[in-house]
Amino acid sequence: MEGGCIFCDIISGRLPAVKLYEDSYVVVFLDICPASPGHALVVPKYHAESLEDLPEAYRSRLLSTVARVAPAILRAVGGEAYNVLINNGRPAGQEIMHVHLHIVPRRTGDGCKTLYCRRTKPGWEELKALGERIRAAMRAS
Ligand code: 5GP
Ligand code: ZN
Repeated sequence: MEGGCIFCDIISGRLPAVKLYEDSYVVVFLDICPASPGHALVVPKYHAESLEDLPEAYRSRLLSTVARVAPAILRAVGGEAYNVLINNGRPAGQEIMHVHLHIVPRRTGDGCKTLYCRRTKPGWEELKALGERIRAAMRAS
């Protein structure tokens, strides 16, 4: 999907990016607006908006690529840990509509709150009822 998708243009080489790793399924490059030094994006070489639309061969490569690349990123930037994040869909914060996974290096006390949101404390019965609704939705699909 060249000419309409920034990440497809990076994959094809029409747009520049600082690439860290590449194989026939994925490319990993540095985010231009990093949440922390070394913030990288793992991008499948297949244009799909969401995780559900991605063929399984590409989807499974996302996580195995994290395990391959993240330790080297941490060594290079002196990171101690990292968050893995997919913003799947616009209400979840997805801005580039080509599915991708973020690796965000972290250090103790860095103040970065990539996964911060206000938590609730539902009762056990409420959790059980919700669980039944989700299992029913899975059976129906
Ligand atoms: P999203 O919100 O879709 O999960 O994340 C999109 C990410 O892509 C953002 O973190 C943003 O900084 C990054 N980004 C947007 N445009 C470009 C670009 O042209 N090059 C690179 N390397 N990253 C980009
Ligand atoms: Zn694309």
